[in-house]
Amino acid sequence: MTSFLPDSIEKVIDEFSRLPGIGPKSAQRLAMHLLHSPEMRVDALASAVAGMKKGLRFCEKCFNISNGELCNFCADPLRQQELICVVEDILDVIALERTGQFKGLYHVLHGVLSPVDGIGPEQIKAGDLKSRIEEMLSGGVTAASMEIIVATNPSLEGETTALYLTKLLKPLGVRVTRIGRGLPAGGDLDYADEVTLTRALQGRLEYI
Ligand SMILES: [Zn+2]
Repeated sequence: MTSFLPDSIEKVIDEFSRLPGIGPKSAQRLAMHLLHSPEMRVDALASAVAGMKKGLRFCEKCFNISNGELCNFCADPLRQQELICVVEDILDVIALERTGQFKGLYHVLHGVLSPVDGIGPEQIKAGDLKSRIEEMLSGGVTAASMEIIVATNPSLEGETTALYLTKLLKPLGVRVTRIGRGLPAGGDLDYADEVTLTRALQGRLEYI
């Protein structure tokens, strides 16, 4: 296709159109917006994007995104150490924090089990969760004082993962609960509003 725009602009349009939810038309509009923006704003955007991943890593304990060995939650002594909420990804942590109701720690799986896509337990941070709990138990924490809330999405993959984790963790003697109903089936946790999410968190049920 013949391009009517200089290469430098085409490059920007091409990069924008690779982003989720951005079609070719939106990519063009964003590029035009930048073209008409003051150079200072464009530089600020470029350096924010370029610097975003520098110095970032995963928390050694919960695999949340972090600047140091431990994320802000794991490093906070005021959070309930024996209450661990297991989520699919980092956006779910943000969604749960928005409710202001959860005072425990997290464990980010970075995915869910999906046999169709070839994603098994080794591809998510499930084994790491088991080792984390085992380490806590050998460090003097009693199993009876622990609760693991499985807050994977109410989708087929989310439910499959929740069942898998229950089977994995129950033998350790800890309480495993599932985030309550009320979340739209098949929906994403991070799309739920604060009230729905708070209700789901309060209405959690133990797996038997
Ligand atoms: Zn952490």
